[in-house]
Amino acid sequence: MDRTSLITLAYLAASVLFILALKGLTHPRTAVRGNLIGALGMALAILATLAHEDLVGKTLGYLLVFIGFLIGGIAGAIAALKVPMTAMPQMVALFNGFGGGASVLVAGVELATHVPAPVGIDPVVLSGLLAGLIGAVTFWGSLLAFAKLEEYKAFRKPFQYPYQQPINAVLGAIVLLFVVTGVASHNPLWIYWLLVLVSSVLGVLLVNPIGGADMPVVIALLNSYSGLAACATGFVLQNAVLIIAGSLVGASGFILTSIMCKAMNRSLWHVLFGVLGPTESTPSEDEVYGGKVKSAMAEELALLFDGARRVVIVPGYGMAVAQAQHAVRDLMNLLESRGTTVEFAIHPVAGRMPGHMNVLLAEAEVPYEKLKELEEINPVMAETDVAIVIGANDVVNPLAKTDPKSPIAGMPIVEVDRAKTVVVIKRSLSPGFAGIPNPLFGAPNCLMYFADGKQAVLNLVNAIRE
Ligand code: NDP
Repeated sequence: MDRTSLITLAYLAASVLFILALKGLTHPRTAVRGNLIGALGMALAILATLAHEDLVGKTLGYLLVFIGFLIGGIAGAIAALKVPMTAMPQMVALFNGFGGGASVLVAGVELATHVPAPVGIDPVVLSGLLAGLIGAVTFWGSLLAFAKLEEYKAFRKPFQYPYQQPINAVLGAIVLLFVVTGVASHNPLWIYWLLVLVSSVLGVLLVNPIGGADMPVVIALLNSYSGLAACATGFVLQNAVLIIAGSLVGASGFILTSIMCKAMNRSLWHVLFGVLGPTESTPSEDEVYGGKVKSAMAEELALLFDGARRVVIVPGYGMAVAQAQHAVRDLMNLLESRGTTVEFAIHPVAGRMPGHMNVLLAEAEVPYEKLKELEEINPVMAETDVAIVIGANDVVNPLAKTDPKSPIAGMPIVEVDRAKTVVVIKRSLSPGFAGIPNPLFGAPNCLMYFADGKQAVLNLVNAIRE
C-alpha cells in the first residue's frame, strides 16, 4: 500500500474514532472514555498528517510544526489544569474563536498560492472564501462572547446604535457579494481579505446584542460555526479528516443550539437579532426588595424540615462556585434518613455550561434518577414543603413569567415560588448572570440564608442533626 492510501486509511480510522467519541459523550457514565477516544483519533490524524509527502524530508517544515505543537500543547495543558469548571464557557468560546481564526489563516495562505481554474467555479476558491467568511465571524464573535462571559465591564451591556438590524443585513449582503465576485475573479486574494474584514465586523455586530441568559445559545452556535469553518478549510486543503471532523462539530453544535433554544423558549432568530440585556423597564432593586426580604439562620431553618415530606433542591452557578455538591449530597442523605423525599430540579442553563449541575452532582454520587427536568418537577412544586435554592438566581426568577420586557422573558424557570416555603442560599442580594433583580427573594414564602453555599449547607446539616 502506498503512502497516500495509508494516510487516507488513517484519516478514515480517526474519523470513526471521532464518531465513537461523540457517542461516548452522550452519557455521563461513558463521557470520560468518549473524550479519550476523541483524543486518540486526533493523535492519529496528527501523525498521519506528519507523514504527508509535502512534509517528509523538510526539516524546516517539521520544526515549524513542532514549535506550533509545543505552543498549542502547553497552552492547552495549562488551560485544562488551571481553568475552573465555572469558567468553561469562556474557554470553549476562546477555543471556538481560535478554530475560526486558524481557518481564516489557512484558507488565506492556500489562496495566496492557488491558481484558479480558468473557467467555471473553482471549488478551492469557493471553499476558501466560505472558510474566511465563517472563520472571521466565529473568531471575532467568540472573542466578544469571551469578554461578555468574563463579565468585563465594557462589554456587559450591548453597544446601542441605530439601525442595528438593517446594518447587519447590509453587511451580510456585502459579504455574499464578495463571495460571488471572489469566485468569478482571477485574483481572488484581495477580495478574500476584504471579505475577512467585513465578516469580522459582522461577527462582532451579531454577538453584540446577545447577553444575559441567552449566552449559552450563542456559544453553542459559535461552536457550530467553528466546525463549518474547519469543514470549508478541509475542502480547501482537500483533507478528508478535516472535512469529516468539521462537519461533526458543525452538526453537533447546531443540534446543541436547537436544544438550548428549545430549553430557553427562544427562536434562533430571536437570539441572533433580538436586543437583549437589561431594558429600561427592568425594575430597580429598591422596588423589588424594599422592606420585603426576610433572612434566617441555619437553626431557624432546621425547624422547617421537621415533618417535611417533600424537599426539592435547586442547584445553580453558586453551588459550583462554592463547591457545595458533596455537602448537598450529605443534606440529601440526612433528610432521606428522616423519611423525607428529596429530588433535584435541574434547569437546562443552570451554572455556566450545558449539563454543569449534572456533572457536579454525579461527581458527588447523587443518584442520576433523582435529577428531574423542568417538565417533571414544576407540576409537583405546589406539593413541595421546602424548596432549597443553592446559588441559583436567574433560573428561579419569576420575572421570566411576569415581565415581558425583562431580558429573560419567556425563559422557563424552576417554579420554586409555588412551593410552601423557599429557602434561598446565597451570599447577598446580588443579581445573577442576567443582571436583574429577583422578586422571589422578597416573596412572602421565601427565606434568605445569606452565606457561602458550602458553609450554609454544612451548617444546615449540623442544625438539622441537632
Ligand atoms: P446565576 O448566575 O443566575 O446566579 C448565581 C448566583 O450564585 C448569584 O446570584 C450569586 O449570588 C450566587 N453565588 C455565587 N457564588 C456563591 C457562593 N460561593 N455561595 C453561594 N452563592 C453564590 O446562576 P443560575 O445557575 O441561576 O443561572 C445561570 C445563568 O448563567 C443563566 O442566566 C444562564 O443563561 C447563564 N449561562 C449559562 C450557561 C450554561 O451553559 N449553563 C453558559 C453561560 C451563561 P451572590 O453573589 O449573592 O452569592
